[in-house]
Amino acid sequence: MARTEVDRCPGVLAVHQAADGGLARVRVPGGRLTAAQLDVLRLAAAELGDGRLELTSRGNVQIRGLQADGPQDLSDRLFAAGLLPSMAHERVRNILASPLSGLDQQSRYDVLPVATALDRALCDCPALAELPGRFLFALDDGRGDLAELAADVAVRALDERVAVLSLGSRGVRVDWDAVPELMVGAAEAFLAVRDQEWRIAEVAGGEELILERLGLRATEVLPAETAQVVAGVHGAGLVVTVPLGSLTQEQAAALVLVGGEVRITPWRSVVVPAGSTGLEEVGLVTTPDSVWEGVTACAGQPGCAKALADVRADATTLLSATAGEAAGGLARVVGRGRVHWSGCERRCGKPGAGFVDVLAVGNGYLVDGERV
Ligand code: SF4
Repeated sequence: MARTEVDRCPGVLAVHQAADGGLARVRVPGGRLTAAQLDVLRLAAAELGDGRLELTSRGNVQIRGLQADGPQDLSDRLFAAGLLPSMAHERVRNILASPLSGLDQQSRYDVLPVATALDRALCDCPALAELPGRFLFALDDGRGDLAELAADVAVRALDERVAVLSLGSRGVRVDWDAVPELMVGAAEAFLAVRDQEWRIAEVAGGEELILERLGLRATEVLPAETAQVVAGVHGAGLVVTVPLGSLTQEQAAALVLVGGEVRITPWRSVVVPAGSTGLEEVGLVTTPDSVWEGVTACAGQPGCAKALADVRADATTLLSATAGEAAGGLARVVGRGRVHWSGCERRCGKPGAGFVDVLAVGNGYLVDGERV
């Protein structure tokens, strides 16, 4: 793919002007937020934005509806809370980590400390401030949950000593000790071999060129299977699905009250300690049999000028109805697992793997291309 311009991924210092005001995206490396940091975000959304915290498909947090002087106030608050450690690197701290890392038996290695070390190494490298905002790192604890997200530079745990570092499908065994340095090295090599491209997969022969610069040779073929993380208890963790990935003030406050650390997942859910209470009461989902499980939606109207429908309102109306009341052809998408509602053909925020496609077309919807 030939890119002709720099990417315009929003950040906190580079706010996107959407139809409903400024949109700021706060990077949350490894998805980790302390309860105090989540409360800072909650208050900022209430006082500077539209009151909600949006969870993104890369495990970040967005605040919408910022007024003209909102971004400056927001960046001051985030800096004070430790959520903006580098002004130059704020849009490039795109680091995913398996959200259940270290919490259940499927976790072969706790990758969260590696995510923190990688974030530090990234911010310590001035050249990497030039990475495109879409360039993605992933640290998989061995369960394969991040494979579908197609990171540019990924690591998957084999055990507590060894991991597979991969660029696309090409992998090489490495020791954990070397991982942060190698991932940063791969990003630097990408900047050296790219032209205008935003992702490694867009560079012809990019994977080989970068491995060569790192002095590595691919020897591993990554397993194709992917694991899905659904709402419910997983060992010492509780996965809590946030309906349509949009946290209300009340829901965010309930998560703050849980205390400790909240982990944002890339699937519009969060992980809190097992046994946490007071979440179902505010409309959060803690069991996998909910109609909200797996359902995602783009911003739609009124936030996005391109949207042909208020997809969130339409999805909410449908899913709030009892099965008997869910009228018309759209009823067929209820309880279908992964379903993504889009206000136009760009399908922003769609899941990485197979999903039921609900697309607004101006005078109704298409479901997997079929008018309903
Ligand atoms: S999919 Fe279309 S309507 Fe939805 S947020 Fe993206 S551009 Fe806007």
